[in-house]
Order: sequence, then structure tokens, then C-alpha cells
Amino acid sequence: MSDQIQCPNCGGYKVETLKKEYKKESRSITRTDRLRQAIGLMGIFWVCSLIGGVITAAMGETERLPSIVGAAVCLVPLMGLLVFSAKSRSIVVATIYHFGCSLCGYRWSWEKGTPIPQANVKPDLIATGARKLEEEERRRQEEAALHYLSKQGKK
Ligand SMILES: [Zn+2]
Repeated sequence: MSDQIQCPNCGGYKVETLKKEYKKESRSITRTDRLRQAIGLMGIFWVCSLIGGVITAAMGETERLPSIVGAAVCLVPLMGLLVFSAKSRSIVVATIYHFGCSLCGYRWSWEKGTPIPQANVKPDLIATGARKLEEEERRRQEEAALHYLSKQGKK
């Protein structure tokens, strides 16, 4: 994804996502929210017990069926309590990306859904940055080779 992001400072495409941040806001829970949550939770739970019951019955262990039904019935008020005890929920109102350019070192933030900052393409900055990155890569490879050789020497 970050390959498609253009640095607004140099116009290069060597952009790293440094951090993804979620801005959250607390909203009070409405009756509709509660209803939806309750239906969702109960639905999942009942489907699970139904599957459990069917498997148990298929295996011919019918004496276990009452305990599965019992557990399902007992857990319903517990879930209701869980759903209704929550007063507010936090929702994500914005997703903020923090980017850093590997070519020129420029750092900026962008909020998802807002226009992408206009880039000023500076070929000299891109070239300098690319050279720097190449050098770093070469150094890394040299170090790896040295490390490998020193390991071989010890054997
Ligand atoms: Zn840049």
C-alpha cells in the first residue's frame, strides 16, 4: 500500500507507514445499539449451542443434551446483563497515518478520507535519497557477508 504513496516534499514513492493511529470518541449507547448487540450475542450463542446439541445427539449421547440446554438458558440473563451494563462505547472517528519518506526524510500525517497532499516533485532530492538508500543497502550486505564469514571462520 505504501508503494503508492507519494512524498509531498520530494515526490518520491519510498514512503513508510510509521504509525497508524485511531482517533476514538465515546458515544452513549442508544436503545437500537443495545438491541443489535443483544441479538448478535444471543444469535452467536444459540447457534453454538444448537451445533453442540446436534453433534451430541448425532453421537448418541442424549444424556448430555439437558446440560447443554441448561447452560444455554442460564447464560441468557448473564449476556443480557453484559449488554445492558455498558453505558458508552468508543467508536473510531478518524484514522490517521503517520508517514515518513525514506528518500528525503520528510515526515507528515494524513487523515483517511481527506485529500492527499499535493506533491512537489524534486528529482534532485529523489536522486540523492536513492543514492543514500543504495549505499545503505550495500553496507547492509557487506555487514551480512562479514558476519557470515566470521561465523564460518569459527567453525
Ligand atoms: Zn520525500
